[in-house]
Amino acid sequence: MPNSIYETMGQQFGRRSWAEPWKIKMVEPIHMISAEERKQAAEKAGYNTFLLRSEDVYIDLLTDSGTSAMSDRQWAGIMLGDEAYAGSRNFYHLEEAIQTYYGYKYIIPTHQGRGAEHLISKALIKPGDFIPGNMYFTTTRLHQELAGGTFVDVIIDDAHDTSSMNPFKGNVDLDKLETLIKKVGADQIPYISLAGTVNMAGGQPVSMANVKALRKLCDKYGIAIYLDATRMYENVFFIQEREEGYANKSLAEILKEFCSYTDGAWMSAKKDHLVNIGGWLAVNEPKVAENARNMVVIYEGLHTYGGMAGRDMQALAIGIAEGIKDDHIRSRIMQVRYLGELLLNWNIPIVEPIGGHAIFIDAKKFYPHIPQEQFPAQTLAAQLYLDSGVRSMERGIVSAGRDPESGEHRHPSLELTRLTIPRRVYTQAHMDVVAESVKAVYDVREKTKGLRMVYEPEYLRFFQARFELL
Ligand SMILES: *Cc1c(COP(=O)(O)O)cnc(C)c1O
Repeated sequence: MPNSIYETMGQQFGRRSWAEPWKIKMVEPIHMISAEERKQAAEKAGYNTFLLRSEDVYIDLLTDSGTSAMSDRQWAGIMLGDEAYAGSRNFYHLEEAIQTYYGYKYIIPTHQGRGAEHLISKALIKPGDFIPGNMYFTTTRLHQELAGGTFVDVIIDDAHDTSSMNPFKGNVDLDKLETLIKKVGADQIPYISLAGTVNMAGGQPVSMANVKALRKLCDKYGIAIYLDATRMYENVFFIQEREEGYANKSLAEILKEFCSYTDGAWMSAKKDHLVNIGGWLAVNEPKVAENARNMVVIYEGLHTYGGMAGRDMQALAIGIAEGIKDDHIRSRIMQVRYLGELLLNWNIPIVEPIGGHAIFIDAKKFYPHIPQEQFPAQTLAAQLYLDSGVRSMERGIVSAGRDPESGEHRHPSLELTRLTIPRRVYTQAHMDVVAESVKAVYDVREKTKGLRMVYEPEYLRFFQARFELL
């Protein structure tokens, strides 16, 4: 990989550092609990970081979902909430923001991303269908399965290799896709489930060239493309940074072009859009819009609020415009990269290239002596918490769940522990503390043992499973 992939602003201009394009107006105190208290809290939580109380966490890198700090403008927007049951003016602001920045025609608000996934899966999938996608996401795949479909992974092979330096590891493998189309027939494939910055692959982007080629292939067979737009803002940053012809275009321009090759999108606004709750579905096909609008009143709320308060929609509309600003995304990605480079300097195995929203530690390489059935990534998350009170998340065999047919564990090739960076929340000093804790856990890795699962829920087990130390 050429050096340019990590070319921070500092390297470009000599010793000139980047810094956040905001200053702090309000703070939320946190406290660090003692080692003994951490031990008790971890045991009580069954060594599952999802089951910890947030009060017992020092630096919370569980997720970037709904954990962003809102701006003064967004908080001002909260006060402009129009809480009418129907036709709230905030809905029309939201609709206009999505149409302006993404270019889709029909907008259906939902309480969060999975609400939109539910609607689109039910609207388009019939039992027996296949839904190809560039790697699964937990809630996305589950909704596709509950609608009677089977998810098929058609991401390029490099995505499964944590050391491949391919700059667009999120790309769809068009040969794999065409092979599937020929095998099952285009009428068994309602749409391609395309995700920007593929979360489960380590926050890896899709190139513009890839989505263009995908559009061509799908047009040939009459198949639609729906986009998981949750982290498209970060995806378009990587296009601007790495793909020829985009260096001088704004992120907003690149986003609009990317979306123009797709038929619609679902969104977890809790990520890119800098709000604590919200989501939406957007489509161009009037029939699909009508169908989804019929269902939204059953599952979410009226089609002009979809489970959000008016004030939520106002903060969201403002966040859509703030989030796509070039200097905002640049500072976000540079903060993630800063943490990743600290770990790389200590030879700690992480997924490269460093992705958009998180550092993913390769737990198979971190703990080569712990078999996957003893949950190496879950073990690392537990050890990090015990060491410093830093909360991370497992993305490996626990998250992958069981195969619905055989009932066996799915064995994903990637066994990762994710350090997810909330937007506009932590400073560089927090990143230093996190990196030093990972290093401390790494230094005693050979003596560390794995975990045993003692409670396993049926759906999305990673949220509520419980473990014991071996
Ligand atoms: C978070 C997320 C979702 C689901 O959204 P929620 O708002 O958590 O319901 C879907 N896809 C991706 C890629 C996500 O990261």
